[in-house]
Amino acid sequence: MKKYDAIVIGAGQAGPSLAAKLVSENLKTAIIERKLFGGTCVNTGCIPTKTLVASARAAHMVRRGDEFGVQISGDIKVDMKKVKARKDAVVQQSNQGVTGWMKNMQGLDVYEGHGQFESSNVVSVNGEQLQADKIFINVGARARVPDMPGLNEIEYFTNSNIMDVDFLPEHLIIIGGSYIGLEFAQMYRRFGSKVTVIEMSERLIPREDQDVSDTVKEILENEGVKIRLDAECISFAKKDAKIAVTDSCKGEKQEILGSHVLLAVGRETNSHDLGLDKAGVKTNKFGIIEVDDELETNVPGVWAIGECNGKGAFTHTSYNDYEIVADNLFGTKTRRVSDRIMCYGLFIDPPLGRVGLTEQQVKDSGKEALIGKMMMSRIGRAKERSETQGFMKVLIDAETDQILGANILGIGGDEIIHLFIDTMYAKAPYQVIKNAVHVHPTVAELIPTMLQDLQPL
Ligand SMILES: Cc1cc2nc3c(=O)[nH]c(=O)nc-3n(C[C@H](O)[C@H](O)[C@H](O)COP(=O)(O)OP(=O)(O)OC[C@H]3O[C@@H](n4cnc5c(N)ncnc54)[C@H](O)[C@@H]3O)c2cc1C
Repeated sequence: MKKYDAIVIGAGQAGPSLAAKLVSENLKTAIIERKLFGGTCVNTGCIPTKTLVASARAAHMVRRGDEFGVQISGDIKVDMKKVKARKDAVVQQSNQGVTGWMKNMQGLDVYEGHGQFESSNVVSVNGEQLQADKIFINVGARARVPDMPGLNEIEYFTNSNIMDVDFLPEHLIIIGGSYIGLEFAQMYRRFGSKVTVIEMSERLIPREDQDVSDTVKEILENEGVKIRLDAECISFAKKDAKIAVTDSCKGEKQEILGSHVLLAVGRETNSHDLGLDKAGVKTNKFGIIEVDDELETNVPGVWAIGECNGKGAFTHTSYNDYEIVADNLFGTKTRRVSDRIMCYGLFIDPPLGRVGLTEQQVKDSGKEALIGKMMMSRIGRAKERSETQGFMKVLIDAETDQILGANILGIGGDEIIHLFIDTMYAKAPYQVIKNAVHVHPTVAELIPTMLQDLQPL
């Protein structure tokens, strides 16, 4: 039995930074990773997808060249091998950065293998037993593969194996019209594939407001992505060299023939094969590890950080989990997960930046509120760039003047949303932005104007 002060299981978005902090606090520390250092974000999530989105945007802008007075002669072709090679290079740099950081850290023992609990303070890996009084679980999540008829008879992609694609699928059928599915939908359409999205709900990204879902649908349909909503009873079958996807939508049955299928129907935590029962760590029925406001599980000395605790499904929330744990162990002991304001992006083009409550959530809360909305088509900078799709919207608490939530669906929305995020963290009234002078000509310069024209919700 090897004795440590601390063990980190999983080298995702929180584990490596936490391991470095533990080492810097002179704790004898081990980190265990069973696959790729950097986890989902670095290897099969944020970084590769955003790199591919950038290639897809380049293809899109080349096709739009004529609108801007730029003449391109000859056919426009996307070289998928080069697209993949560019993505691989960016991913490799990040992956090697984290791997090298971990393996070369003085005072950190790195184990490459599957870690699992033998008891509340013992973890086994590659036949060795490691003991520590502090154990941190950062095992992340994987693509959910639902039990759908015919699925095991076909070959399908998830967000992981689609990263190996270096050819153009003729017709990609994407099951799931939420954040991950929509990024791939627009990307592959721009690369040149036919794309169909099949979504079970009555609208895309159903957690967002109706106007956001509708506009995102319009943006994708304008580029030729076919979208089928309200789809039920989805099944798959091989048909010659194609895959037939059948669903029934409002009673109307339809078969779509595609060349490839991507499953994008949510994520499942990697808690099932961790031996949590041997440690006595509680999960909910979805396998999400239950934690308190400082991210400690029901077993003292065992923490769960990142996507596996269900407190956020993002890289920034996972990293923030590390900060919270580090603060409570070694710092001011004041940081709590409940202080976090939820924010995220949907990286289609133009992107959606989101923070706080949606309009519907504010309505449901019964709070007295004000709303401001501005179409991108009114914004000079958006017109100059011929990027007028989308809108921005903000919700204000009518009593405190504080911002409750916002979305910016439009060019630069993923960056500009930080104006609202930071104001919310500062707990400052919206008048701070309303009275600020913003740079001309920018998209952000219209936010004070939007705030001058708030209406009761
Ligand atoms: C296609 C896609 C696009 C995304 N885009 C974005 C985005 O743009 N922005 C954003 O914020 N988020 C995005 N995400 C989500 C983001 O990638 C995850 O929320 C984030 O990576 C979660 O980090 P984590 O630290 O919880 O775990 P992960 O990054 O998943 O890392 C967990 C690690 O634990 C390892 N592991 C698991 N079990 C064991 C075990 N028993 N023993 C040893 N090691 C183990 C795994 O191999 C993995 O390396 C995206 C996700 C996907 C799938």
